Amino acid sequence: MTQSTVAASSLTAQIEAASRAVEARVIAWRRDIHQHPELGNREFRTAGIVAEHLRRLGFDEVRTGVAHTGVVGLLKGALPGPVVALRADMDALPVTEEADVPFASKERTTWNGESVGVMHACGHDAHTAILMGVAEVLAGLRSGLRGSVKFIFQPAEELPPDGEDGGAKMMIEENALENPQPLAIFGLHVTSRLPVGVLGYRPGPTMASADRMTITVQGRQTHAAMPWLGVDPIVTAAQVVLGLQTIVSRQVDITKEPAVVTIGMIRGGLRENIIPDSVEMRGTIRTFDEAMRDQVHERVTYLAQAISRGSNAGCEVCIRKHYPVTVNDPALTAAMLPTLRRVAGPERLLFVPKVTGSEDFSFFQRIVPGLFFFVGVTPSGTSLDKAAANHSPRFYVDESGLLLGVRALAQLACDFLESTEGADGAGAETKRPAAVPAE
Ligand SMILES: [Zn+2]
Ligand SMILES: [Zn+2]
Repeated sequence: MTQSTVAASSLTAQIEAASRAVEARVIAWRRDIHQHPELGNREFRTAGIVAEHLRRLGFDEVRTGVAHTGVVGLLKGALPGPVVALRADMDALPVTEEADVPFASKERTTWNGESVGVMHACGHDAHTAILMGVAEVLAGLRSGLRGSVKFIFQPAEELPPDGEDGGAKMMIEENALENPQPLAIFGLHVTSRLPVGVLGYRPGPTMASADRMTITVQGRQTHAAMPWLGVDPIVTAAQVVLGLQTIVSRQVDITKEPAVVTIGMIRGGLRENIIPDSVEMRGTIRTFDEAMRDQVHERVTYLAQAISRGSNAGCEVCIRKHYPVTVNDPALTAAMLPTLRRVAGPERLLFVPKVTGSEDFSFFQRIVPGLFFFVGVTPSGTSLDKAAANHSPRFYVDESGLLLGVRALAQLACDFLESTEGADGAGAETKRPAAVPAE
């Protein structure tokens, strides 16, 4: 054993012990945050708890109010070395909780003008608590820690309220990845799709891009008994819905990557004997490749307008890009695989299929190489097919799975810092563009 491997293995053992020591508090933090969920850009209480925790741990820097309610903390190890970033999201969802837990949320608030229940139905409460646990673990080991760890607690991963900016993109615009620049970033997501004690990963495209489309078919209102006197936007919209399905089935190369085009909302008409003036449709587009993403956007716009023209209707298509493809850097993923295997155990690290859900962690990965992985939280004994999915009002987190998240992030950070050249970020390459790519 070289001196550095001895140091690394002793650090590994210390992380294990410190993670176990903080587990009960991670669960307590998670329950507290769960009982007091806050929607995107409104994570005031949660961010306050996080910032106070980091300050109490003696962090070298704690920036608050980043992208509204985000918190960025910097922990400098005693030994010189590079910088690595860890990210957790903090926001809840407009969902009324139905999970049978004593700390279930009873919160209600207003979201885009509607009164809604609030629930951590995606498990971001677990992410925040896990990263607070990692902060405690690594702060306790800083005398043996090489380099620095940047802790990013992010608001509004589930999109900010209409009319507001927020999330990872805004954190980057407000310099969350500057001073100092990390050489890599790690993040995780708890999932009902894996049993407790299991980690899931995959290199390359892992989660889909997500873009919202709004299509308005403009007809001409008339009596439903005399359709020839107007232009029927309902029949036209029906043709558009079916036509759009031929994009994935007939027009893009699905041997390259899968894609999804879904119309999830259609609205038009007031009563049975009037052909309305217009129909509005909304939907989502998911892809795993940025070129295919652009191609699908072009096809949606062209087809909707061409089909409408065939019925003498007008058609306006508005596609709003939300999140890019979450792409795990292949070299970073390969380099960190031994760490994940060691932490989970070889049988409990799974190569998982692509996920058509999306993540704004992808914005961070456009600036620095990143690895985003999954942590199982479905109780062993519960069928994965029957477990309530993330975003369900009955989404349930088996808290015995949180420790694995703490251990994984802490070990990834340390192993990365131990194995990467460069002091304080110098000497290693990043794929940093001049600015956040426009969306
Ligand atoms: Zn979610
Ligand atoms: Zn989520």
